[in-house]
Amino acid sequence: DMYLADKQRYEQMSYRRCGKSGLLLPAISLGLWHNFGSVDVFEQFKQIAFRAFDQGITHFDLANNYGPVYGSAEENFGRILRKGLGAYRDELLISTKAGYDMWPGPYGNWGSRKYLMASLDQSLKRMELEYVDIFYSHRPDPLTPIEETMGALADIVRQGKALYVGISNYNPEQTRAALAVLKEYKVHCLIHQARYSMFDRWVEPELLSVLDDEGVGMIAFSPLAQGLLTDKYLQGIPENSRAAKPTGHLKREQVTADKIARAARLNELAAQRGQTLAEMALAWILRDKRVTSVLIGASSVAQLDDNLKTLNHLDFSTDELKQIESILV
Ligand code: NDP
Repeated sequence: DMYLADKQRYEQMSYRRCGKSGLLLPAISLGLWHNFGSVDVFEQFKQIAFRAFDQGITHFDLANNYGPVYGSAEENFGRILRKGLGAYRDELLISTKAGYDMWPGPYGNWGSRKYLMASLDQSLKRMELEYVDIFYSHRPDPLTPIEETMGALADIVRQGKALYVGISNYNPEQTRAALAVLKEYKVHCLIHQARYSMFDRWVEPELLSVLDDEGVGMIAFSPLAQGLLTDKYLQGIPENSRAAKPTGHLKREQVTADKIARAARLNELAAQRGQTLAEMALAWILRDKRVTSVLIGASSVAQLDDNLKTLNHLDFSTDELKQIESILV
């Protein structure tokens, strides 16, 4: 019962160049932060991963501590690879990260060379891989010299343990500093991974133009605001949703009346466009050509299929964009 990929897997997806680089990313990428841990059901998330690749999603995004428990998403992804997906290794872009809390003591967190080097070795073991495609510094570390963190990334590339490197959650100033150091080491920063959705637009004023100027791609995480930008919370918090699960990072308090009122209005506009709110929210991120890919999560194949339908209707009229602005202010 080894997995065999759909022969038509490249027929629907579109691919976008990641900044000034040789690498194309699928417009939609799949993240394993939730739904792939030891608390989740293997048969279910295996099908999500297979379906994703069958539909041209070549990019799978992980981090050392995705689970729960920490490390279990990487272990599970390794199992999925061994169920047949791994036969397509050269068609896959696998990323992982280190920067948040991972193991006890002073060497299992933040941005030291000690932590990044050890963590990537652990990630490779858990996934049973020889290299990842992209390795990220998961967050800036205000107490570690940026030369040390970026030096570790540069050496990781030279060691062949990652083909490309990126940064995540760095503000514009921290981004400029990181890019300058990487340039000294003659290693290109491929990509910045940042939160971006209709409900969180912090990247718009400055970060997107810094990245564009520097030829760095951008991948937008939590583009559905963890589910708030879908129709699922319009009638309350359903059982089994991220906000209802004890292990979910979306808290009940974040499902506010204000957010739901806005989501309801956006949902009407999406219906006029013949889309679900999820599809419109993803299309809205992809309207900006500086964004390389939207990095979604999915707890079912049905959600994944819904999100893939985004690609059927990506354009917005000026009037639709105005209406969206008026709902978001
Ligand atoms: P999303 O905003 O896409 O939220 C995903 C969740 O929304 C799903 O688990 C599901 O929730 C719900 N959902 C998705 N599609 C639909 C749909 N069509 N209809 C209804 N509900 C839907 O992204 P995530 O917050 O999951 O983040 C995506 C990825 O980004 C992560 O896996 C990770 O790789 C990356 N990330 C990176 C961070 C960083 O610091 N670099 C931080 C956070 C994320 P439910 O479970 O309730 O069904």
